[in-house]
Amino acid sequence: MSAEIVNICWFRRDLRLEDQAALYHALKSGKPVLPVFVFDTDILDDLFDKADRRITFIHNVLKDMQHQLRNYGANIEVFHGTPAAAFAHWTKKYSVGAVYTTHDYEPYARQRDAAIAKQLAVQGIGFFQFKDQVILEKNEVLKDNGEPYTVFTPYSRKWQSIITPFQLKSYPVQQYMHHLFKAAAKDIPSLASIGFKPAADQDFPSSTPDEAIISHYDKTRDFPALNGTSRLGVHLRFGTISIRKLMRTAMELNQIYVNELVWREFYQMIIWHYPHVVHSSFKPQYDQIVWRNNEAEFKRWCEGQTGYPIVDAGMRELNTTGYMHNRVRMITASFLTKHLLIDWRWGEAYFGQQLLDYDLAANNGGWQWAAGSGCDAAPYFRVFNPTLQTQKFDKDLQYIRKWVPEFDSLQYVHPMVSHEVARKRALEVYGKALKK
Ligand code: FAD
Repeated sequence: MSAEIVNICWFRRDLRLEDQAALYHALKSGKPVLPVFVFDTDILDDLFDKADRRITFIHNVLKDMQHQLRNYGANIEVFHGTPAAAFAHWTKKYSVGAVYTTHDYEPYARQRDAAIAKQLAVQGIGFFQFKDQVILEKNEVLKDNGEPYTVFTPYSRKWQSIITPFQLKSYPVQQYMHHLFKAAAKDIPSLASIGFKPAADQDFPSSTPDEAIISHYDKTRDFPALNGTSRLGVHLRFGTISIRKLMRTAMELNQIYVNELVWREFYQMIIWHYPHVVHSSFKPQYDQIVWRNNEAEFKRWCEGQTGYPIVDAGMRELNTTGYMHNRVRMITASFLTKHLLIDWRWGEAYFGQQLLDYDLAANNGGWQWAAGSGCDAAPYFRVFNPTLQTQKFDKDLQYIRKWVPEFDSLQYVHPMVSHEVARKRALEVYGKALKK
């Protein structure tokens, strides 16, 4: 064991060295700071695709962080295993004073952090957590009666009325980087050594906000053929961009873009207060819906072979790139839950496997919104009409032509259901369940 006492900064979904709350507090603690990361087998073992894009993304980011840390003679120590084993290892290898990390609102993460805090407490080691991935969290935005909001518009109004410049301030981490723990250079483990392969497509979006796109966001965001959204989802997911910095930019450039970032905070707040949404409908009566759950139909939806070009374009974009435009996420999710009457959890899980920007809270919120079962969801009787959606949002068929080039030929599959028949069926099945 090293004689010198070190404080650990445990990185998870906050993978950056600037404006990072836990790193800032650790560096100011007065002890040398050892950055660490765990390739958590409790999470990795559930990943079916060994060339998973998210793992390659994280691996690239860690390599980049390691490169930056070398400028200070420091390393990020990377462990492959469970967090419990990782901390057993580090507390044997180093005299650890305390562990610093950021808040994570997902149920698994909360349980993991509580277990690690307990494990460390037995050894007399402190575990300190800081808000970092959102601007306002947990109970910071409440109704006047002290209850959490479950509807977005009043939540957002309150959020915007209580926000102060102080909450948007960046942590000046750079000033304290000389407090990092110095060690000989060490490579981070290869993807192969943790059981993964490099993703086939590594064309990851840039983490630098495109100010021109954000400025025009309100006019371009709904058209999937345009390059009209920020593509920062993956960076917000893994913390490779600071939300404080991005929100300041957003506030200067576009109010509609600010709203979208507040939606993100809303869903993080919902998952914190109502963790049951991970497995059940936010509104319990929606769990009485008798889903058809036809596996062959689900497969056609996954593969982009429904015969509805806008749905198929979205699914093919997702399968090919790990991204799907928000408007098309809504259309494909509505199609699965309403037209095919397949349980939203099936679609949620499929998106969870494929999306580079996969985020439990936002994905769950999006799916429950589309299925009608969520807080502040679309009313169940509003069934998206794929043809009308196409006329409104892809009227020149540019997006469809890109992903479903055969859509106007004899080779293209017939629609698997008629919109009118499916709409009526959905209304009947939903109506029955909600009357019970
Ligand atoms: P932009 O349109 O540029 O928005 C900027 C950022 O705001 C996004 O990156 C995201 O962090 C946040 N944001 C925007 N819209 C929403 C929203 N409705 N809910 C929460 N945050 C939002 N978003 C995810 O980050 N991860 C997911 O797994 C996810 N799954 C979704 C599933 C469904 C069925 C639906 C309808 C939406 C889902 N969304 C998800 C929300 C939204 O589609 C994506 O955030 C957005 O398409 C990402 O592209 P962008 O980065 O260009 O976003």
